[in-house]
Amino acid sequence: MGENLNLFTSTQHVINDALGKLGYNEEMFELLKEPIRMLTVRIPVRMDDGSIKVFTGYRAQHNDAVGPTKGGVRFHPEVDEEEVKALSMWMSLKCGIVDLPYGGGKGGIICDPRTMSFTELEKLSRGYVRAISQIVGPTKDIPAPDVYTNSQIMAWMMDEYSRLRENDSPGFITGKPLVLGGSQGREKATAQGVTICIEEAAKKKGIDIKGARVVVQGFGNAGSFLAKFMHDAGAKVIAISDAHGALHDPKGLDIDYLLDRRDSFGTVTTLFDNIISNQELLELDCDILVPAAISNQITENNADKIKASIVVEAANGPTTFEATRILSERDILLVPDVLASAGGVTVSYFEWVQNNQGYYWTEEEVNEKLHSKIVDAFNNVYETSMNRRVNMRLAAYMVGARKMAEASRFRGWV
Ligand code: NAD
Repeated sequence: MGENLNLFTSTQHVINDALGKLGYNEEMFELLKEPIRMLTVRIPVRMDDGSIKVFTGYRAQHNDAVGPTKGGVRFHPEVDEEEVKALSMWMSLKCGIVDLPYGGGKGGIICDPRTMSFTELEKLSRGYVRAISQIVGPTKDIPAPDVYTNSQIMAWMMDEYSRLRENDSPGFITGKPLVLGGSQGREKATAQGVTICIEEAAKKKGIDIKGARVVVQGFGNAGSFLAKFMHDAGAKVIAISDAHGALHDPKGLDIDYLLDRRDSFGTVTTLFDNIISNQELLELDCDILVPAAISNQITENNADKIKASIVVEAANGPTTFEATRILSERDILLVPDVLASAGGVTVSYFEWVQNNQGYYWTEEEVNEKLHSKIVDAFNNVYETSMNRRVNMRLAAYMVGARKMAEASRFRGWV
């Protein structure tokens, strides 16, 4: 609870800093410091044992001046109001950074899907859509998958919404299975986005990806695909890790073999004897470091010991604000999470566009469009950081906040 309150207030602080740097007054911050709409719902579900359990769910819509709001729905026991609000604000920033015609939204249900049956999950997913149906829709607010939700849950939600509206509405939600209007390339989109950021950052630092030494923390959805993309691009992935420890080989690891052996939770190091700690992994001598696991990994305690020239945040919040300052003083190029992990929402946007036009793209077309969006976003943030003499995180928040602030002003709201 305390941690999520922290996440919420620290997000407010950086938005305030970014608006200040952009020359907006206090009134703009008053508008953007909280979601414009926050719905709390109670969802009764008849469980398999015949009892009724009532779940609490949320949907936050941060700002819809630019267009409909967009963001995932997470199913997790630790979901709470502050977390959902903060994450909706992060989504607004991400959408602004990659220049999508959206504001940010986020949803969550307090539940533990690992202890629920398929039938119970289906009833909960459908119940959530019925409860929030008045405020969502393809032109209002478009949900997507997040922690512990997947394409099956998106399919149930889309079906429930289509039944309520009595018309087929694939554009109501993204992250759907391909046969129901999902997009090619969605599964790997986040790792693709991170890869593109690494390539652009390497150009700025004069580092050749071929032969570059890469360290990746986390071997789940984001980390494992990213390690594969880097390996295929000719980089030397010298270390990877999971929750149990890290593998290190200065000559480069056999990523295909590790991908083959990892389990569905992203665990692979338990199969080996010579492992090092996650802390040691972060401090290895390398060119590019990618935290792709959990938050608060690079802090004021180890920021001085980071040897990479480039740090790209695939995870949410892996570097503290104090550590951000230390890294930028040491001239380490930090690509912040709101930019580096925006590949997922970008391909979600492409899915919605394809649903609206009823015409579907190949994986190559999706990847090409993703490439151009992320390259533009990276350069926009990088130039803002250079021109305004601020670090890449504050520059990203400035780029992200600018669009919604301008749209709110043109609409006459502030
Ligand atoms: P995941 O659950 O698939 O994998 C997480 C990985 O991190 C696993 O390998 C796990 O063993 C490891 N891990 C867990 N605890 C750890 C610890 N204490 N130390 C080191 N490693 C640990 O998750 P994911 O989808 O790959 O997401 C990783 C991060 O990227 C998260 O911060 C997530 O919010 C962010 N992210 C992911 C996506 C996406 O599309 N997958 C999009 C945006 C942001």
